[in-house]
Amino acid sequence: MKYDVIIIGAGPGGIFSAYELTKLNPALKVAVFEAGHSLEKRHCPIDGDKIKSCIHCKSCSIMSGFGGAGAFSDGKYNITNDFGGTLYEYIGKKQALDLMHYVDDINMRYGGEGTKLYSTAGTKFKKLCIQNDLHLLDASVRHLGTDINYIVLENLYTELKDKVTFFFDTPVETVVSIEGGYEVKCADAAYSCEKCVISVGRIGSKWMERVCKEMNISTKSNRVDLGVRVELPAEVFSHLTDELYESKIVYRTQKYGDLVRTFCMNPKGAVVNENTNGIVTVNGHSYEDPAKQTENTNFALLVSKHFSEPFKDSNGYGESIARLSNMLGGGVIMQRFGDLIRGRRSTPNRMGDSFMTPTLNATPGDLSLVLPKRILDGIIEMIYALDKIAPGTANDDTLLYGVEVKFYNMEVAVDEKLETAYEGLYIIGDGSGITHSLSHASASGVYVARNIIGRA
Ligand SMILES: Cc1cc2nc3c(=O)[nH]c(=O)nc-3n(C[C@H](O)[C@H](O)[C@H](O)COP(=O)(O)OP(=O)(O)OC[C@H]3O[C@@H](n4cnc5c(N)ncnc54)[C@H](O)[C@@H]3O)c2cc1C
Repeated sequence: MKYDVIIIGAGPGGIFSAYELTKLNPALKVAVFEAGHSLEKRHCPIDGDKIKSCIHCKSCSIMSGFGGAGAFSDGKYNITNDFGGTLYEYIGKKQALDLMHYVDDINMRYGGEGTKLYSTAGTKFKKLCIQNDLHLLDASVRHLGTDINYIVLENLYTELKDKVTFFFDTPVETVVSIEGGYEVKCADAAYSCEKCVISVGRIGSKWMERVCKEMNISTKSNRVDLGVRVELPAEVFSHLTDELYESKIVYRTQKYGDLVRTFCMNPKGAVVNENTNGIVTVNGHSYEDPAKQTENTNFALLVSKHFSEPFKDSNGYGESIARLSNMLGGGVIMQRFGDLIRGRRSTPNRMGDSFMTPTLNATPGDLSLVLPKRILDGIIEMIYALDKIAPGTANDDTLLYGVEVKFYNMEVAVDEKLETAYEGLYIIGDGSGITHSLSHASASGVYVARNIIGRA
């Protein structure tokens, strides 16, 4: 079976590639191969009742399937070059921002209208942060919420399903360069195409590494972000979240000079498990619908770890630490801040005495047995720094869940068109190591489609 373009992966990168390709040239024969399920079949079996923790499904419905890792996310589209990826290094800052706005317009047309666009422009919090040695990054944030994000995906699928051939539950095994294009091999069949767009996300990182090795595409990898998810009563951060929704705040620790940052803030949200290659870590999300909101706000505190030669396996380092928490807690461990600073584990009894109700059913334990001292010290320092702009952050009952790991795919060698040394073979989205967010991944999809059509 021959296609003009094959897209591997139906996350935001793949979806927006397919959208733009079919919009610019409806005659193109486009196929999308996705390892996970179609959207309506994506269900995580953890119900907190019969199934309490990850049972390692063959295809993880949180990370895989139509919508990719973003399908049940909070749907926060950060329109900024300050974080979320380095797409601007390849295509320029203005074009990157224009594309993120273009994606936002599409999301609004496909079900997101009425959702709020927050902005840090002109906020008084910038001053408050700097007065306390904290640094608020600039961004506009469209918060779709998990519910509206899902509706947008449903509508995009309805738009695309008659224009593109979707192969769900069909992981691609290999990509081989052939005369005039590429052969894409799956378990039961092989397909060929003139151009191939690879957008396999974080869950496809090992696969991507293998393909790059087989095709001799160079890569580099030296970063992993490690930390915890913090959960506290929504009132503690409400002055910030009401105005900004999400605030990305960076702090340089006095002890080591490491940078610690807030990440993925979810006002009135829930903490959830995340499964990467069988390792259970923690994440968070929240709903736009007030009926589904909780009384807590959660966000991650992450420390970036950059390694130098000869160590190359930064993700392996992150995995080993996450495995430790899985070994001790059977999954994610939670600990009260008060217990952590007193050097004792949280127990079910101590949790029972807490004024906070956790939104994730995790195992009470001791994060100091899991996280390296340097990282934990940085997190504790930042909690005290945040307490100055949001008093209550350092309360005893503040919950820390661990570990949260942001794995970075190794960065693949692509040019300014996001094309590899192989003509017509593009690598985009989080799988390329260039993007780490919904807006950047989606923008890279639109960009590559325009390049393929010759209209970038
Ligand atoms: C719980 C959670 C919450 C998040 N919240 C936010 C947020 O609020 N804002 C934000 O900006 N980002 C958020 N993120 C990150 C965001 O989801 C990703 O940055 C984004 O989805 C990346 O898009 P992508 O298309 O590059 O890859 P992905 O969305 O990861 O999609 C890749 C797809 O490729 C498929 N695939 C992999 N290998 C193969 C193969 N060999 N063959 C076929 N298919 C394959 C996968 O199954 C997957 O569906 C969140 C992530 C998680 C897990």
